[in-house]
Parts: sequence; structure tokens; C-alpha cells
Amino acid sequence: SYRKGGYHAVRIGDLFNGGRYIAQRKLGWGQFSTVWLAYDTQSSSYVALKIQKSAAQFAQAALHEIEVLSAIADGDPSNSKCVVRLIDHFKHAGPNGQHLCMVLEFLGDSLLKLIKYSRYKGLELNKVREICKCILTGLDYLHRELGIIHTDLKPENILLFSTIDPSKDPIRSGQTPILEKPEGSLNGGSTMNIIEKKLKRRAKRAVANISSRRASMGGIEFQKPERCLDGIDMRCKVVDFGNACWASKQFAEEIQTRQYRAPEVVLRAGYSFSVDMWSFGCTAFELATGDMLFAPKSGQGFNEDEDHLALMMELLGKMPRKIAIGGARSKDYFDRHGDLKRIRRLKFWSLDRLLVDKYKFSETDARELAEFLVPLLDFAPEKRPTAEQCLQHPWLNLRNAAQDERENKSNVEKVDVGMSKLQIKKSVLVIN
Ligand code: ATP
Ligand code: MG
Ligand code: MG
Repeated sequence: SYRKGGYHAVRIGDLFNGGRYIAQRKLGWGQFSTVWLAYDTQSSSYVALKIQKSAAQFAQAALHEIEVLSAIADGDPSNSKCVVRLIDHFKHAGPNGQHLCMVLEFLGDSLLKLIKYSRYKGLELNKVREICKCILTGLDYLHRELGIIHTDLKPENILLFSTIDPSKDPIRSGQTPILEKPEGSLNGGSTMNIIEKKLKRRAKRAVANISSRRASMGGIEFQKPERCLDGIDMRCKVVDFGNACWASKQFAEEIQTRQYRAPEVVLRAGYSFSVDMWSFGCTAFELATGDMLFAPKSGQGFNEDEDHLALMMELLGKMPRKIAIGGARSKDYFDRHGDLKRIRRLKFWSLDRLLVDKYKFSETDARELAEFLVPLLDFAPEKRPTAEQCLQHPWLNLRNAAQDERENKSNVEKVDVGMSKLQIKKSVLVIN
């Protein structure tokens, strides 16, 4: 992909936009772009630099993303709506062509990584609630104030705030930003590997020196992943607006990542803001259990769409006939009675029973979570609660006392550690 029309190859220390930004290290990549941690010499802070592939269709997509992100930034001057902020954008000419670049506020790990850190066991419900409040705040802003549908909401596209000041990032800890190319960088790719290896080694050492919780939040694996979640302020932001659209200007029929796709999209029955609410429901379930709510697969005599519809009905009950037969694809999958043509026997398993039987939730936790989730998964899109309504749901303000107590205890432990360090210092002083 590093050829004409593709990605732009970046070296640590490379300058962008007339020298304003200096590349520090790679943060991630997608189908369309690579994303770099960069130092902004103008604001003396770190930013995420998203460098798009150069071919015309990618440039077109980036222009669209910039348009959406600009509307988002203009409508939220105080940057408090839980949606990623666009700081700047420009063109960068390289050997593979002209690349559109977006400068975004620097954020931390995605919720998908958080789920991995939980070893796919799911997060404590108190944490799930905090995350849900952030996502809903973002969705309410997009939907009600801007008229924008995200269309690709999922754990991967929600990033935590970076709890670490990048200047104290384990990889860069105690260092000032890289302001020029490291020595010997003209020798080509191998130098870069040496630098990366050095940085990784340094990171490992740093990890040993600081609390594992902080280390993990810098995106580094360590021995006890589940501990890294203790006492973390669970704030996050919605990102990746490459597929977002204005409800009044839709362009794609097939939207959303498969597992988070709403039934009206599967059936091609038209869509609106409520598709994001469906994806939100799937995401909240995944945060609480560590498993995807729906993971459809094709099988003998049926395709992925049909399996998906069957899974939805097994969990949520039979789809009302009017809805089942109401889409452009309905005739392919349903007969005129509203029954699936090729999957005949469904095994019904309600959400609260699933939470108790498979995920070992207490009866109370299961009932309360199901009461929050089931309305979001209504087959009738117009019956799903809006983000604004959802923010009023009592579930978001419930607290699990045992989890609270554990949290307090872990805070007390931290204070204790601080105290004993102080005492050690004192005794050293006395000895001296
Ligand atoms: P996709 O194929 O998913 O559409 P994309 O090319 O549009 O990918 P993004 O999903 O926006 O790119 O970003 C790719 C990755 O870069 C993300 O998964 C994340 O790891 C990282 N990333 C993106 N934006 C930020 C940010 N603001 N701060 C920190 N990391 C980021
Ligand atoms: Mg993405
Ligand atoms: Mg994208």
C-alpha cells in the first residue's frame, strides 16, 4: 500500500505543514490512512496526525470527513460534547502523491482494547454506565444539534481520553518531544526499526517503574490487564467520521459494520438516527459482557443476513410482520407470513436470561441492564429511544455498591503507598 495513490511513508522527525507538526511515532492505521502522534510546535502539545492515502477516491473521502469534523468543531466551541475535535487540516506532497491530512486531538486506547484488557470478560457495570453516558452525550449532540448520523458506531471507534499526559507517556517518559530527525535516519528503514526497538525497550523499562494501570492505558500490554481498569476515569469520545452523513443527505444504502447493523439496514427499508441507537445497544452489551451481541455467519442454505435476522429474533422475539416484509430485500428472506424462508426453527432466549445463564449476572443486574438495552433494540426504528431520552434512563445512575467499595479501597491503597514513600523519605532524612 506504500505506492502511488497509497499511504505516505513517515519517519520519526518528519515535518508537516511548513514545520508546524513533527512526527513522533505511529498510533494506528485504517483502510484509508495511517495515524501518527505528532508534536504541534505552535501549541506545544501533542496531536494525532491522520494522513490519508493519496488516490482520488481517498482524497474525496477525506474531504467529506473534514467537512463533517468541521461542522462538529464549529458547533461545540467548548469541546465538551464527547466527539473528537479537528484542530487543523492541510495537504502534504510526498513521493506517492498529494495526501490530505487531518490534525485531531490526541486520544487514548479504543474501547475494543479496553474489552481486550478485561480478557473479554466485560467491564464492571459502573464503568459501563460512565462510558454509556459519554457515548450518549456525543450521539445526542450529533443527532439533535447537527442532524448527523455516525453510521459506524462500535467499540473500535470510541477512544478513551488519554489519561496520560503524552509528555509523561511511558514510551516518552522523562523526554522532551523529538524536534528533529534522530541521527542516522537517512540510512533508510532499518534505522527506524532500531529506533522503534529502542523506544520499545525503554517503554518496557518505564512500565516496570510506574504503576501497571498507567502503563496499560498507554497501550502497552502487561501482566495483569484487568487491574489496569481500576480507578480509571472512564471518559471517552466518538471518532472516525469517514462514513458519517447528514440525515438529509444520505448516500450509502449499506451502512454500519456487520455486527452493529440495524435490521432496517439489513432489509434495506431506509434508515435514520435510530440506526446509531441500535449500534449503541450492541456496544453497551459488549462492554458489559465482553462478547458481541450478534455475530452472524453464513451456513448451509442461508447467508449472513439471514443468520443475522434469525439471531435478532431469537433474542428479541419474532419481528412484526409489517416490518419483516417492509424492506427492498424482504422478499429474499421472509415469506408472506413474515417467517424466515430458510431458517425455520428458532431457539428463543431472552436477554435477561442470557445475561444470567451465560454471563452469570445476578438476577437484579440482568433485569436492570435488559430494561435499559431492550428498548434500544426495538425492531421498529421509530420506537427506539433517542439519545436524549436514553440519557434520562435511571439505569445510568444506578451504582453497584460492592464495585464502589472496591474502587474506594483501591484509592485508599494508592494513598497508603504515597504515605509510605513519604515516610521512607523522612527516615532517610533522619539517618542523614
Ligand atoms: P477505518 O478503516 O477504520 O475507517 P481510518 O483510516 O478512517 O480507518 P481511523 O479509524 O480514524 O482511520 O484511525 C485509525 C487508528 O488510528 C484508530 O483505530 C486509532 O488506533 C488511531 N487513532 C485515530 N484517531 C486517533 C486520535 N485522535 N488519537 C489517538 N489515536 C487515534
Ligand atoms: Mg476506524
Ligand atoms: Mg474511517
